[in-house]
Amino acid sequence: MKKEVLYGGFFSFLPRMRSFLKDIVYPERAVCAVCGCVSKGGVLCPDCKVRLRSDGIVMAWEREELEPGLDAYVLRPHTGVARQLVLGLKHGAEKCLADELADLLLPVPPHIIFPPETVVTWVPMPETRRRERCIDHGKVLAEAVATRLNLTCRPLLFRLNANDKTQASLGRQAREANLSRAFAASEKIAFPVLLVDDVLTTGTTARRCAEALRKGGADEITFLAFTRAMGGASSYL
Ligand SMILES: [Zn+2]
Repeated sequence: MKKEVLYGGFFSFLPRMRSFLKDIVYPERAVCAVCGCVSKGGVLCPDCKVRLRSDGIVMAWEREELEPGLDAYVLRPHTGVARQLVLGLKHGAEKCLADELADLLLPVPPHIIFPPETVVTWVPMPETRRRERCIDHGKVLAEAVATRLNLTCRPLLFRLNANDKTQASLGRQAREANLSRAFAASEKIAFPVLLVDDVLTTGTTARRCAEALRKGGADEITFLAFTRAMGGASSYL
């Protein structure tokens, strides 16, 4: 019988290898996740911390109605240190980056009240992408947000097509087509839902997820993203 040894793509090992080597060379995260300078144990070095809080309107939230009944709250533009943190989380999937981002969330806009029965969930990653990256960064982020808001976090959505194309290289129309009937609710939903994602780009993903959640019974859905990318997408969404 012919035996075959299958390896994951070489590049899928790189993030793990990089983080492994970094842990040996710089234990306890002594390096800034954004600029690579000495960070004295924090995720960001003091300079990047200052930049994070000064190169955008950190405490100002933007509300955008994605469709009737679906409001998106976005923390700040997809630029500077915030963008680098989001990209770092997406590609490195390090929990400390999710924590740093989730810390920025607080305080949430005072007029959004999440009842205690609210469940925090995330946009499920395409299976092929999840295997490549080992960790689902959406899940890591949703868990960090749920911890801070003292809410339950669990998966409420799944992808109907496990090998969904990534959205990054697609235009608006292609995104719509790619995502039509892409998601379904994994349980009956009789509670408010807080859908968390890192970047809001065209809003197509959020709308499709909301559609699936509504089919599952949800009638109160809020979408929360850290950054707002205009034009070209850098997220697979
Ligand atoms: Zn730095």
